[in-house]
Amino acid sequence: MSERDPDVDTDVVVVGGGNAGFCAAHASRESGARVLVLEKGPPEEAGGNSFYTAGAFRIVHDGADGEQRLRELVDDKITQDRLADTVLEPYTAEQFTEDMQRLTEGHCDPAMTRILVEDSAEIVAWLAGHGIRWRLMYERQSYLSGGRGIEHGIEPPDLPDPESVPSVDELLRGYEDVVPHFVNALRPIDWRYTNDPAWVMRDKGEKLTYNRVWMKAEGTMPDDPVLHAAALVYSSDTTVLDSIITTHGLSWGFDRIFAVTMNHSVWLHRPVRFDEWVLYSTSSPVAADSRGLGTGHFFDRSGQLLATVVQEGIVKYFPGAKA
Ligand SMILES: Cc1cc2nc3c(=O)[nH]c(=O)nc-3n(C[C@H](O)[C@H](O)[C@H](O)COP(=O)(O)OP(=O)(O)OC[C@H]3O[C@@H](n4cnc5c(N)ncnc54)[C@H](O)[C@@H]3O)c2cc1C
Repeated sequence: MSERDPDVDTDVVVVGGGNAGFCAAHASRESGARVLVLEKGPPEEAGGNSFYTAGAFRIVHDGADGEQRLRELVDDKITQDRLADTVLEPYTAEQFTEDMQRLTEGHCDPAMTRILVEDSAEIVAWLAGHGIRWRLMYERQSYLSGGRGIEHGIEPPDLPDPESVPSVDELLRGYEDVVPHFVNALRPIDWRYTNDPAWVMRDKGEKLTYNRVWMKAEGTMPDDPVLHAAALVYSSDTTVLDSIITTHGLSWGFDRIFAVTMNHSVWLHRPVRFDEWVLYSTSSPVAADSRGLGTGHFFDRSGQLLATVVQEGIVKYFPGAKA
């Protein structure tokens, strides 16, 4: 409208052509009103802040397993295909209201908050009816569970059962003066070597390119899967660098070796139960330039690959010097 058009005949004037303005315009039009939208910005910059929005909408819903509500709203094919593998708890009006209170530190307007919360799903459905396509925002929130897909994993080595191999305490007997720090260490994790540990191997004058150890937490752990994964990650620091020195027939305690971890990565592939025996099979693909790499795989007793570990350490050896 310009100053040359003073006689525009309309029932509703909406000022501003962003999301709010266009919603108001559509709603008015649906009620039968004649609507005029006035937008200050030039056409090439139309849309206001709504043009830049990521389009994330928070709504009350009954979760991925709910009674179709979410399924009806998200008509996007990719989301539909993923819904069976999607972890999404219901989000209630009470939770939404509490979040509004918390995030605004109690400053949200009660009446507007009630409309925002109670009409949230209706608004999304209404916008869908006007051509807006909805999908779950997988890029920002981790909704996907493992789901179905291709599966394989390397096989564990064929080894004796943990019950049939000696405890680490037995393997340390007689070596109290050689590796006193191992003898005196706390043992929240029970380890059972399936091969000679470094100090025994060294004593026998042998070499070993791998180290394979059964491990489990002492006692029963709570059911929380995060705790079991954390216990595995904690334990993964043990024995992973051993193969760097045992490959050369060397051992902590006997030989003067300086070792320090530089970096350590763990990939968890499957849920872990760490108060049951898991096998930690480690080896060292390379040592060069005073740095050595240890790699390891955790397997459960059924042979499933649970986790992969890579650790790099600075490993210095001073031949001729006594430990
Ligand atoms: C980068 C970015 C990402 C965002 N992501 C999200 C998100 O994921 N989810 C979410 O909910 N919100 C998000 N927001 C916020 C969201 O974009 C705004 O809250 C929302 O767009 C506001 O809509 P509106 O219609 O009120 O205002 P606008 O979209 O800003 O529209 C206002 C319009 O009014 C026009 N105007 C102003 N004054 C006059 C006047 N005097 N006469 C005529 N016209 C006038 C303006 O030019 C503009 O076009 C985001 C914002 C930004 C900038």
